[in-house]
Amino acid sequence: MSTDPAIELPYYHGSITRRDAERELVLADSVDGLFLLRQCMRSLGGYVLSLTYEEKFHHYPIEKHLNGTYSIVGSKPHCGPAELCEFLSREPDGLPCTLKKPCQRAADTPVKKGLFDSLRENMLREYVKQTWNLEEAEDIEQAVISHAPQLEKLMATTAHEKMAWYHGKISRQEGERRLYAGAKTDGKFLVRDSEAGTFALSMVYGKMVYHYRINHEKSGKYSIPEGTKFDTVWQLVQYLKMKPAGLMTNLGEECSNGMMAASSKTTISHLHFACFLWEYHGFVLLASATLKPSMSQSADSQLLPMDCSGFVNTYHDPKDLKKFFINRDQLVMDEVELGSGNFGCVKKGVLKTTEDDEKGQIDVAIKVLKNENESLVKDEMMREAEIMHQLSNAFIVRMLGLCQAESLMLVMEMASAGPLNKFLQSNKSTVSMEGIVRLMHQVSMGMKYLEEKNFVHRDLAARNVLLVNQNFAKISDFGLSKALGADDKYYKARTTGKWPLKWYAPECISFHKFSSKSDVWSFGVTMWEAFSYGGKPYRKMNGIQVCEYLKGGNRMECPSQCPEQMYMLMMKCWTYKHEDRPDFKQVEGSMRAYYYSICNKPQPGEEAAEPIK
Ligand code: AMP
Repeated sequence: MSTDPAIELPYYHGSITRRDAERELVLADSVDGLFLLRQCMRSLGGYVLSLTYEEKFHHYPIEKHLNGTYSIVGSKPHCGPAELCEFLSREPDGLPCTLKKPCQRAADTPVKKGLFDSLRENMLREYVKQTWNLEEAEDIEQAVISHAPQLEKLMATTAHEKMAWYHGKISRQEGERRLYAGAKTDGKFLVRDSEAGTFALSMVYGKMVYHYRINHEKSGKYSIPEGTKFDTVWQLVQYLKMKPAGLMTNLGEECSNGMMAASSKTTISHLHFACFLWEYHGFVLLASATLKPSMSQSADSQLLPMDCSGFVNTYHDPKDLKKFFINRDQLVMDEVELGSGNFGCVKKGVLKTTEDDEKGQIDVAIKVLKNENESLVKDEMMREAEIMHQLSNAFIVRMLGLCQAESLMLVMEMASAGPLNKFLQSNKSTVSMEGIVRLMHQVSMGMKYLEEKNFVHRDLAARNVLLVNQNFAKISDFGLSKALGADDKYYKARTTGKWPLKWYAPECISFHKFSSKSDVWSFGVTMWEAFSYGGKPYRKMNGIQVCEYLKGGNRMECPSQCPEQMYMLMMKCWTYKHEDRPDFKQVEGSMRAYYYSICNKPQPGEEAAEPIK
């Protein structure tokens, strides 16, 4: 996983040393203006621009600011490293010459990963785990992937507050008392508040406690005096765990504040504190985290998926997987109808998981079978239940159980903001392109999971992507889905049915062959629907006409506001031959790369704010 916006640049070499950069420049013929970009080993998210001029090498650190902009120290900020280099190819802006020739990485040389690449990932994982109290590795992974850009920003300002080693406002003596309690191993440490917004690090060494001031500079950076500077206290601590950097020894055992259980859930005040800090510094707040999910709120103020009950793996306890049937007295059914189909209707309800406990009440959607005498429909619903029962992913609607009472009922978690196409049709003004990219990235994550588990959905469409809120999508409707055998590449339908032809790949229609690759085609159509704010695909054509249209090499046009990169991905999904089409692993990778790249940049209409002074 990488949120590095330089990763795709051919002249970006990753974490190489100054000496290696100079060697690359020599090998590539040292003409004036020859340049490459490399990762800065001292600051998270920063780069170094290495340039040849008059047979000498010049190295310029590029800082990443908390508002997502980049600049060479003291120069103009730009919204990304590519934009910065592009600008410097036109204007020297303090360099001895403009950038003239990129020194490209050899085709077979990958971008060199740096120390902080894995460190950042571990930090994100730890932050998610502690903030949202997620336990399952899979839940943590999904949360990190889908929200890495927002999380990095939240983390930058609030991370230390969630750490066991952070003891808040305690005195030096109290710090010593806490460190002396229990084993006094070298490196045992804690961090506490010091005067006015600064911190102190207290550490055991040779049975003594040493105290170090953590400087908080005007630039916003933190450091142990004379040491490397970091954007956050947390990064500093992580670094000192690896290198003593002037301390008596590396930081070792964390002296726990003992309050992690109580403080492990994100509190509103934490999030507001983060927002406050961003606003206080005059930055544009891209991270969105506030009080309650509300459709009337602006695009920048929704809950993250992890704040919703439907995020967490509902099957923590393996016993839960066996509980396929639900007792009728556990269910309260509302009169409110959420939707309907051939089978009957979907109603709102509540599932009581424990007695007399408000927490044990889950909002649910209940699919109620209309006419059970039609055994065909009943079989279909049972098959859907069986498929859903095997799936557990944050971006797939979870089945909570089946209930056989006055009718057969399929109980699912609730996605109260409804189908994606309808939501986008009625919320055009509040959902940004970035928001749509985020939702479609989540859909690609859910589909990648299905592909890995060898399931084909066969009915992926915007109407079957349900929203928990504006920020959180889930794939639903597994009525046509099939589990493939371990050695099967596709499912062959023996008969046709009421098929959604406009969403189907050519091989589905011509040969009745369904695979994850044909789901990829449907994903392309779903993307088109999303980026056209719930538009109807192939308007004015019927299914047969669409087949002819596609055979003739035609494809739908790019929706008016759709980013070019997203249209290119759609077109790839609509590769005629399934062998040449990308799979969901690739599609998700492309969605992620694009999503991260736009999150790292100020959004259109936003001023690129000045770097921290
Ligand atoms: P389906 O036949 O599964 O597509 O469901 C028909 C309609 O019922 C959908 O278009 C939604 O409006 C609604 N619906 C289905 N499942 C849910 C759910 N889990 N949460 C909220 N609404 C749902």
